[in-house]
Amino acid sequence: MRVKIVLACTDCKQRNYNTTKEKKNTPDRLERKKYCRFCKKHTVHRETK
Ligand SMILES: [Zn+2]
Repeated sequence: MRVKIVLACTDCKQRNYNTTKEKKNTPDRLERKKYCRFCKKHTVHRETK
């Protein structure tokens, strides 16, 4: 069961990525290191509601 999530930069709080996750495998809030074009660097992006 895949659910749509939004990933937001933890530095500037911008919502940079839309993605999906497998809820069964990752029931907790997803964190991914991704490039933020606002910070111009790789930052931790966290799932938002
Ligand atoms: Zn950022």
